Amino acid sequence: MSIEPISNLISRLSRLPGIGSKSAQRLAYHILEMSDSSSRELAEAILAAHEKVHHCAVCGNYTDRDTCDICSDKNRSDGVICVVQDARDVFAIEKTREFKGKYHVLGGAISPMDGVGPDDIRIKELVERIKQEHDNTLEVILATNPDIEGEATAVYISRLLKPMGVKVTRIAHGIPIGGNLEYVDEMTLLKAVEGRREM
Ligand SMILES: [Zn+2]
Repeated sequence: MSIEPISNLISRLSRLPGIGSKSAQRLAYHILEMSDSSSRELAEAILAAHEKVHHCAVCGNYTDRDTCDICSDKNRSDGVICVVQDARDVFAIEKTREFKGKYHVLGGAISPMDGVGPDDIRIKELVERIKQEHDNTLEVILATNPDIEGEATAVYISRLLKPMGVKVTRIAHGIPIGGNLEYVDEMTLLKAVEGRREM
């Protein structure tokens, strides 16, 4: 039995991260049983997120305005910039409620194996930003993932920034090697930021 719209839906859902074919099937049948208006709202939410959300012009985080809420927050310090690989890492660090500086989202990590070089992620933008805000920027915290790519990226950025007279620190390794910031619990992440060391 193959009903094309259902198998199409299952196949698209199963391409989402963390969704196996069983879950995709369950979700597809759940969507089928939703009311017309609920399923339309779901589809429209996906479209709206795609159409309205883009990268913040300053930090690269997601926003539906020119500048994100964090960059425009006058209560946050311009003096500390926390560099992360992913917008999801901003969300993870924000959950600790302790960090009161700003962020810079790289959009990946240097990975020669995957053909990702320094020019493919937002390193140039970071350097430009620090040049422009030079009097303000006192410290850059490198919070890239503690795996090979994240470490290589941290070392690369630290070599670029140190001659500019910026204090460069690296988050401590309460985080498992090879781990991903996104999946680390809040307490471990908080301790890692607190225990950062100068590079
Ligand atoms: Zn921003």
